[in-house]
Amino acid sequence: MGRSVRSRGGGCAIRRALNLPGCGGLLLAMVVGAALLVHLSARPRWHRLQETRLLMGTQVDVTVLVSDHEQGDRGLRACFGEMERIQALMNIYSEGSQISKLNRLARQQWVVPHPEVFWLVQRSLESSRASDGAFDISVGPLVRIWREARRRGVPPSTLEVQAALAHVGYTTIDVDPKGQRLRFLNEGMSLDLGGIAKGYALDKGAEALRREGIQQALLNAGGDILALGGKGKDPWIIGIRDPRDPNGLLGSLEARDVAVITSGDYERFFVYEGKRYHHILDPRTGFPSRGCRSVTVVGPRATEADALATAAFVMGPSSGLALLEHRPGVEGIVVDERGRKSLTSGLEGKVKWLR
Ligand code: AMP
Ligand code: MG
Repeated sequence: MGRSVRSRGGGCAIRRALNLPGCGGLLLAMVVGAALLVHLSARPRWHRLQETRLLMGTQVDVTVLVSDHEQGDRGLRACFGEMERIQALMNIYSEGSQISKLNRLARQQWVVPHPEVFWLVQRSLESSRASDGAFDISVGPLVRIWREARRRGVPPSTLEVQAALAHVGYTTIDVDPKGQRLRFLNEGMSLDLGGIAKGYALDKGAEALRREGIQQALLNAGGDILALGGKGKDPWIIGIRDPRDPNGLLGSLEARDVAVITSGDYERFFVYEGKRYHHILDPRTGFPSRGCRSVTVVGPRATEADALATAAFVMGPSSGLALLEHRPGVEGIVVDERGRKSLTSGLEGKVKWLR
């Protein structure tokens, strides 16, 4: 599908030429003629290429706007290649992944993990400290029993939750920054990067596109979005899902060079005796966190936005919103358990509400 977005830029050149003081009629006609000629010959055809793959447990769509097909194909290949590489590193469900190796070995000894795993663990620990432990990648043992519970459709017993909780706590992840090493001070520990790795994969996917010279793209991983540039002259428009209506939107916002990441209680859950049990766990109680239906974070980096969305969700509507409000360059929308919406001051007037 071709689009001559740049032709509007050519229009500006003509307007500038018309503003030249003291132009005579002939000169003016020549300038306009020349500008038009340049405009027509330089006008690129814009193509919109899209590809979808299943990745990281969700559908990932990448759309690129490019002036030539080959560049677009190269970009899409590089972008998905990079995201697949990250998935292979961080996947706790694959025995051979770097994170699984770390989980097996760091209980006994210092381990030098893959540098990107080490980097992501460090970013995760920063988020843990900033959120007073609401964000905690050591939730691995809890994630395991709640995944099993989801399969059965019945919550785990309090005893089971207590047993898992005994092995949760980011302060027992020992970090040696000089040696780039990690070890666990609590034997039953295991790390789960599910709350941050998707954001990291989006950042790396966008980096790969930029390396191919692509400056306009939209990466969508199951509703977590990274907008690279805009859509021609316009920004991308991002819908914010209604947490109680899979097909409905609460509103939309404009995005350019920004990540829009949402944590919601609707992503993976089961209902037992009228109560919803979802996948975002409160490391203080061992149970799915209560208080929020969804938290959307808008920020320059998807990695940080992903961790902050999970963190704010667990902290609850008011502390969660305060966390986002105080973070420079970051904004957010919180929908609480009664469906009430609140947003950080920088988003006032910027969300187009639909309901
Ligand atoms: P997200 O959808 O980004 O909020 O991430 C949710 C995923 O992060 C879950 O499926 C778990 O793998 C993991 N997780 C759950 N609770 C936490 C938590 N409190 N801190 C960090 N990661 C968590
Ligand atoms: Mg997250």
